[in-house]
Amino acid sequence: METYEKEGITVHTVQGKERGEDFTVFGSVHGNEFCGSVALDRILQNIKDEKIRIKAGVFTCVPVANPLAFAQKTRFVSHNLNRAFYPREAEEITCQEHRFANVLAPLLQKRGGYFLDLHSYTANGNAFAILGGEMSEDYKAFAKSLGVARLIYGWGEVVKDDKTHEDARTGQGTVNYARLPENGMYSITLECGHHHNPDAADIGYQATLNVLKMLDIADIEEALFEPGVMGGEQYSIKLKYVQFKTKDGEFAKDWINMDSVLAGETIATGGDGEKLTAPQDGFIVLPNKNATIYDEWFFFGVREDF
Ligand SMILES: [Zn+2]
Repeated sequence: METYEKEGITVHTVQGKERGEDFTVFGSVHGNEFCGSVALDRILQNIKDEKIRIKAGVFTCVPVANPLAFAQKTRFVSHNLNRAFYPREAEEITCQEHRFANVLAPLLQKRGGYFLDLHSYTANGNAFAILGGEMSEDYKAFAKSLGVARLIYGWGEVVKDDKTHEDARTGQGTVNYARLPENGMYSITLECGHHHNPDAADIGYQATLNVLKMLDIADIEEALFEPGVMGGEQYSIKLKYVQFKTKDGEFAKDWINMDSVLAGETIATGGDGEKLTAPQDGFIVLPNKNATIYDEWFFFGVREDF
């Protein structure tokens, strides 16, 4: 294993003897999301103990992508690394997190490589993967291999891309950067569950093991796999539309991400009594009960396995 430190970020790389795939994983891009760093520390320990033997290709991991925010147990200090993520020239750098992005970005410029970004979130709910970019066969295989119970796709079609180039760059997170045509990586954000779910780290760990196995990068001791932690049968959920909050209103219940709804069921009621109902059987995705007028209120998706 090769380990180096740059600007306070520790990067680990293990190269197999044979040619093979390239897989990169980040943890704690947001400093208060510990599951990724715990998961990747466990992977590294198992590599040291030879329970995971990297035999082909390259495995790169950064357990703590934002060490400054991590030390302060906060999402970010001056700059959210999952927004406006790109390398900057010296004169554009105004904070340490810009320097972190300059260390991390070159790791996401691996055409044909695979990138997994491990996060957790504040709402109640279980783990899910957020897919994006072209749904090629290799990409679908990557997504399914995670083993996580919920895969969400179809953002590009529901979130209309009418933004200027500059806005697009502002919203650009790590996975978006990795899948830019010039970087050419297959990339996925894995939300491992609520920040305080005790099994969030287990999910990030199992998903990383699963991808190492699927890409045939490593020989892994069978005892390390615990499919039971992944939350059951895998569904692919295709987003159909985003519902903006256009006027006052309340959710019909305290929706949890990925709650199922039946056709005709009331999702929310406007202050004027108008009901928003589900057009077909489906799922409430990323409900935001604190949305203000014109915010994204929730997404509606249906099960469409790919
Ligand atoms: Zn996050």
